[in-house]
Amino acid sequence: MKLDPKAVRHLAPEDWRVLTGVELGSKGHEVVPTYLIEKNSRLRGGARGVHRSISNLARIGLIAKVKENKYDGYRLTYGGLDYLALHAHTQKNAIYSVGSRIGVGKESDIVMVADEHGVQKVLKIHRLGRISFRSVKTNRDYLKNKNAGAGWMYLSRLAAMKEFAFMTALRSEGFPVPEPIAQSRHTIVMTFIDSFPLRQISDVPDPASLYADLIAMILRLAKHGLIHGDFNEFNLLIKEEVEGTNGDGEEILKLVPILIDFPQMVSMDHENAEMYFDRDVNCIKTFFKRRFKFTSTQPGPFFKAAKKTLGQDGAKRLDAVALASGFTKKMLKDLEAAIKDKELHPENYEVSEDEDEKADDDDEEEEDGDEQDEGHHDQESQTPENSAQEKVGLQPEQDL
Ligand code: ADP
Ligand code: MG
Repeated sequence: MKLDPKAVRHLAPEDWRVLTGVELGSKGHEVVPTYLIEKNSRLRGGARGVHRSISNLARIGLIAKVKENKYDGYRLTYGGLDYLALHAHTQKNAIYSVGSRIGVGKESDIVMVADEHGVQKVLKIHRLGRISFRSVKTNRDYLKNKNAGAGWMYLSRLAAMKEFAFMTALRSEGFPVPEPIAQSRHTIVMTFIDSFPLRQISDVPDPASLYADLIAMILRLAKHGLIHGDFNEFNLLIKEEVEGTNGDGEEILKLVPILIDFPQMVSMDHENAEMYFDRDVNCIKTFFKRRFKFTSTQPGPFFKAAKKTLGQDGAKRLDAVALASGFTKKMLKDLEAAIKDKELHPENYEVSEDEDEKADDDDEEEEDGDEQDEGHHDQESQTPENSAQEKVGLQPEQDL
């Protein structure tokens, strides 16, 4: 789903009200009946005005018509929700302009944005539970799955909320993570880390020292009661910082790892904590062996020893952060189930990129699009050539 900020600028106030009306209706209905949209939007022009706005919104793909057995109505598209979030961010001055997409992650789109002073930031749009309408219709098993009831909008919002809460908590404890700036719906705005993902780095001067830093980070998280749960070369951004100069006046560079991507964080008290902890540690071990031919002489670290350090040196427990920030236990469970389900059944989450961009929305049923494997998109944006290009060649930014 590409973000096309032009449409945001051209939306009339009535159209915004109707779009908001569809969003409101989506809380109770996946397909919002037209009468409910009318009721929610309460336009002065009455039903005729609403219908005009509905067709405007459908034409630019922010809502899509769905014919049902019982009633006709409209659903909010991925694009529609994106615009609502973008609009909220611009209202709060978190975003002024939108640049190009710099990454398609496993569970998100990453877009460069800037504030009114031209400072570059990153907009992360969560796409959890992004199942195409087609795969839902053809996959009866999936429909029987409890999780299917928890819609993509709800799950993506939970992912953004959880990520924002943990980024805030980690940051305030001094962890090297981006600074969270704002959250709206399924999106967050954070500082841009000018860096390369570890995945793109072919050589480092001192692998032992970087390895030690990363293991120390895993152990520091554990002390605060947390396991990242996806601690790998995609979620570690490596920044170069000048440490000083040597005798010849050459700069000495230090590699500083920054950790990102938090929706799957789990507590050290989680029933599968040991498995998650070991998996994080082994990801790093395997990567360092493969990429840098480096193997630590020390075994571990091990979960049991890490667990004993919980709260040591006055470390504040952070694993209750989500619950403290408005999450219910059910919300956490729904999110966890969705993340796990996606890991186990990536085929249920395939969706055509263009699915929501069609102006004509009557052909949903026979839609077959060129679906792509979203689970493996990381590579697309992670090749060094690609990233260098993006860095210097950002598309001209568009005012909203
Ligand atoms: P996902 O959950 O989809 O994996 P991530 O948060 O890991 O999403 O982001 C995907 C990619 O986008 C990262 O691997 C990284 O290259 C880039 N990225 C994400 N956040 C930032 C940021 N704050 N600064 C720079 N690049 C980022
Ligand atoms: Mg990631």
